[in-house]
Amino acid sequence: MTLLRRLRNTSLLARFGVISLLLTIAVGMVLASVLSTAVAERAREQAEWTAIVTVRLGLQPQLTPGDLANGFDGTRLAAVDAAVDAARNNLQGGGELDDLDPVELNIFNRDRTIVYSDENDKIGSVSESDELDDVLSGEVVSGFSHSDDDGTGSEDGERVFLEVYVPVQYAGSASPDGAMELYLPYAPVAAAVATDVRTLTITLVVGLAIFYGVVFRLIASASRRLQRQTEALRSSAERDRHQSTHDSLTGLPNWVLLRDRLAQSLSAASRTSGEVSLLLIDLDRFKEINDTLGHTYGDKLLCQVGPRLQSVLRDGDTVARLGGDEFAVLLPSVQGEEEARAIAERLSEALHRAFDVDGVVLDVEASIGIVLSPWHGTDTEELLRNADIAMYVAKEHKAGAVVFTPEEHVAAPSRLTVLGDLRRALDGDDELFLNYQPKYTLHGERIEGVEALLRWQHPLLGLIPPDEFIPVAEGTGIILRLTERVLGLALDQMRRWLDAGHAVPVAVNLSTRCLLDAGLPDLVQRMLTEHRVPATLLRLEVTESAVMGDAARCMEVLQRLHDLGVKLSIDDFGTGYSSMASLRRQPLDELKIDRSFVLGMCTTQQDAVLVRTAIDLGHNLGLTVVAEGVEGIEHVEALRELGCDIAQGYHFARPMMADKLSELLDRVGTIHDAQGAVTSRP
Ligand code: C2E
Ligand code: MG
Ligand code: MG
Repeated sequence: MTLLRRLRNTSLLARFGVISLLLTIAVGMVLASVLSTAVAERAREQAEWTAIVTVRLGLQPQLTPGDLANGFDGTRLAAVDAAVDAARNNLQGGGELDDLDPVELNIFNRDRTIVYSDENDKIGSVSESDELDDVLSGEVVSGFSHSDDDGTGSEDGERVFLEVYVPVQYAGSASPDGAMELYLPYAPVAAAVATDVRTLTITLVVGLAIFYGVVFRLIASASRRLQRQTEALRSSAERDRHQSTHDSLTGLPNWVLLRDRLAQSLSAASRTSGEVSLLLIDLDRFKEINDTLGHTYGDKLLCQVGPRLQSVLRDGDTVARLGGDEFAVLLPSVQGEEEARAIAERLSEALHRAFDVDGVVLDVEASIGIVLSPWHGTDTEELLRNADIAMYVAKEHKAGAVVFTPEEHVAAPSRLTVLGDLRRALDGDDELFLNYQPKYTLHGERIEGVEALLRWQHPLLGLIPPDEFIPVAEGTGIILRLTERVLGLALDQMRRWLDAGHAVPVAVNLSTRCLLDAGLPDLVQRMLTEHRVPATLLRLEVTESAVMGDAARCMEVLQRLHDLGVKLSIDDFGTGYSSMASLRRQPLDELKIDRSFVLGMCTTQQDAVLVRTAIDLGHNLGLTVVAEGVEGIEHVEALRELGCDIAQGYHFARPMMADKLSELLDRVGTIHDAQGAVTSRP
């Protein structure tokens, strides 16, 4: 039992080793015992049979029924003695039972009287032996008998004999006429048995040892391989789990883990009637830092924020990064608003201490929104939404830390509530979807590609246009999650179209904030690989103002995206202030003239000039030129005249659901072949 208990704590291989060894030994012992018994039995039978044959063939013919009935006279006795000697000699010639020298021979008549014995003084005596009854009824009986040779009665001097009774029956008799009793020494048989058993045991031990060794080696190597695979699987699962619950830049818990811990804290607090507090922290001057120093500094600063926040918190508190410059602190147990406020104060102070990023001293300020459960909500969604509102109030009033108050919630501008709802929408998968608007070649009026446009079906407010929620999301890290969702949906659809034989390029709009995220190219590459979509089919649209405003910083991200093979467009061209020089530096492929100019080009001279200039500029830079917002035939004709390549607008098609676009693609096809290469001129 203790062995089993100890084994339970050892490795599987050690357990297998010990258990299989014990089983092999047990099987060996059982086999040895069964085979030894069989060997001994076979040897005994052989000795018995030798005795029977000797008696029947050597002795019985020497006796007559009269000898048995009347006993032997002197001459007959001498003849029988001689026959007995001869039989004895025969017995000794038996090969491996060479020493089978009978020590005693008795012949009985039917009345159990000894008519002959090699110990002559026994002649005439009557045997009471029970075995004699069986023999006289025709059976051969054998068994072991023991004699105390040295007369001391000690076991050392004991000899074992095989005692064989053989019936003697003559032709014409209905039952045996007498019996012979033969005592054979068992020692030679036992010695032969011992030799056989020893050989057998050695063979068994060696055989089983080889068997065990081979099986153990096989199992050990299989076990090692299995262990390596299990370890690889375990560490990859651990890595995946860590990646999905932690922020890749700072290593802090991410949104997923924070929600999980918040939910756990809420259920624990509901049992103890305790209070949970959530603090949402947004860095106020982060954009400036990114703008002036570049995202490398920005990233390094973000990495220092987590430890700074943690340094003033308790062990059980959680610091998470929600994206961008947005952090959250979860206090699973607080004593009222005052304590939450005091902790927020400590966090602000910690952030106000200057940061040293590669020798550059940086000052950071933060706006903190505070909520407490159960007072400001009892579920994760409500608390997060209210924390968002409090944080925005803090930001707008430059108030540092603000505790949520329901009155502010009621009065809060709609954009504050939008954020909470958007977070919830991002957690589900049925509120956010894409519409696709085709872009047509002006030359042959065929589909050149499509633009993916985000739609939000709000459960209460209905369809919300992107202009109403994207600018709000752009103010926080949510835009990164939103972009990832849009990319995922678009790539998913591209894969479906590819499977249906349509290599249709899809354009996805990127916010400026996404271009500040150095992780974007890796994300795009990973998602392209996951969806098995060629990079050349993906187009990313960035606004003119984004590219121009943060030229240096965006340049690197754009270049890396371009290096992946992704096509890049400059969107809403004409609304920003780009110079020819800065445009030339960007790795762009396409220029989209903003729809406000296109719409006015047939009525306003100024717009007409701008459209013409944009087309010339684009072509001079080697870019494809797209006109957005093409609503009428007059626009189409004017644009064609000016040499514009592609048009997008209600004149051709409105943004539509994917299945409608699939039907359109089936009808008209695209100018691309299955690999995405252009097969006809735009
Ligand atoms: P955009 O990238 O310039 O997209 C084109 C917008 O023009 C779309 O509006 C489209 O419906 C509209 N449009 C197309 N043809 C015509 C036309 O003939 N006349 C008029 N008046 N409008 C036309 P939508 O879908 O409301 O999108 C508005 C903006 O929202 C987009 O402008 C884009 O900047 C942004 N947006 C849309 N989806 C996303 C997204 O997934 N991510 C990001 N970051 N922004 C997006
Ligand atoms: Mg666009
Ligand atoms: Mg546009």
